Amino acid sequence: MPHYSIFTLARNALTGHDRWTEAWRSPPLKPHYDVVIVGGGGHGLATAYYLAKEHGITNVAVLEKGWIGGGNTGRNTTIVRSNYLYDESAGLYEHSLKLWEGLTRELNFNIMFSQRGVMNLAHDHHEARDLKRRVHANRLNGVDSEWLDRKAVLKFCPVLNGDPGIRYPVYGATLQRRAGVARHDAVAWGYARGADAAGVDIIQNCEVTGFTIDQGRIAGVETTRGVVKARKVGVVVAGHASVLAGMAGIRLPIETHPLQALVSEPLKPILHTVVMSNAVHAYCSQSDKGELVIGAGSDLYVSYAQRGGFNVIEETMTAIVEMFPIFSRVNMMRQWAGIVDICPDASPIIAKMPVAGLYFNCGWGTGGFKATPGSGHVFAHTIARDEPHPINAPFTLERFSSGALVAEHGAAAVAH
Ligand SMILES: Cc1cc2nc3c(=O)[nH]c(=O)nc-3n(C[C@H](O)[C@H](O)[C@H](O)COP(=O)(O)OP(=O)(O)OC[C@H]3O[C@@H](n4cnc5c(N)ncnc54)[C@H](O)[C@@H]3O)c2cc1C
Repeated sequence: MPHYSIFTLARNALTGHDRWTEAWRSPPLKPHYDVVIVGGGGHGLATAYYLAKEHGITNVAVLEKGWIGGGNTGRNTTIVRSNYLYDESAGLYEHSLKLWEGLTRELNFNIMFSQRGVMNLAHDHHEARDLKRRVHANRLNGVDSEWLDRKAVLKFCPVLNGDPGIRYPVYGATLQRRAGVARHDAVAWGYARGADAAGVDIIQNCEVTGFTIDQGRIAGVETTRGVVKARKVGVVVAGHASVLAGMAGIRLPIETHPLQALVSEPLKPILHTVVMSNAVHAYCSQSDKGELVIGAGSDLYVSYAQRGGFNVIEETMTAIVEMFPIFSRVNMMRQWAGIVDICPDASPIIAKMPVAGLYFNCGWGTGGFKATPGSGHVFAHTIARDEPHPINAPFTLERFSSGALVAEHGAAAVAH
């Protein structure tokens, strides 16, 4: 058991950095790997796990500049759903949701996946039409989705403000009952443990600072711990994708923004589902510890700083109090931000890059936590076989020049 100083405990309390990651001892870095994964978030660790499990590739290193799960994986509001509008997205997120449904058993690690339903509110007739269209599209894709009228919404979630005279009254909602929440850091640890058991080296405090490229083909990575040779390199560094791509001479159509969230003091169980409103741009659920988990829209300016503007928090709280007057006197306990990379069509890139043997998985914006298992699964396939899995075939870099976008921004309600 490692020794904990006051400083370590204080930092852990502030950052969510956990005893489990603290106890993790990185193995020594080997000089050569078949595959190097850059980024030890949920997506990177899931990729390593599936490379070993599905493709028998175990000479793999996951290189993480900080500690595993300390990026967006440990900072998100944990919403998992698959009710996206377009066929391509529905295919990707439903693939992931199916993996979530068996993940605790698969990893033998309790990820506390709770299918408590996600409701997307409509506040007027126009919004209702838009959301009903999505319900029909979801059903055609085999994704469970239903429309609740105002009475049914208030019956399903009685703590919502039912006053018809407010600025954004409840008109109706979509409900995906199989959607819900999970414990985000447990997902990183579960995949890390599974990958480690299969022989993958997970190296913390190892930042990738450049790529070695030989005649158009990847040959390895440069790191703060020296050069590592690799036949293939998969990069999954949410918020830093364009920085890493730039090191390989590739320009990505990505903007990086802060995205904030906050949690309240713990309460007795009061909110048993996830409620989201696109119009007021706020959403809320209650964690198993009793905290209200509140999320917002991304800050509008670009930044790599993991903190956001107070105005976003102010607007979010105004919206939450309007939706749930019952929460108006609850104290907020913690607020934080991650940095998310957003593609113009709000869909990810999971693809081969112009440099042979180099693969990028990025652009998940505000909604990649739900994709963690599916993303790792198809990215591992793409790296192992040097061709995309049919599910991620539409999510190329080339779509930004061909115009074959998967424009989920307006289509997916709140994008988390
Ligand atoms: C406040 C907030 C709320 C969110 N809410 C939701 C939600 O409710 N539902 C949802 O689906 N999604 C949500 N998201 C988005 C989701 O968190 C991300 O899309 C997802 O976690 C991305 O996972 P990842 O593994 O790709 O990234 P990360 O967990 O960020 O992992 C990337 C890792 O790469 C490392 N790295 C970066 N550069 C280097 C380098 N040069 N060398 C080595 N390592 C490097 C980082 O340290 C980091 O650990 C939210 C995000 C935020 C910030």
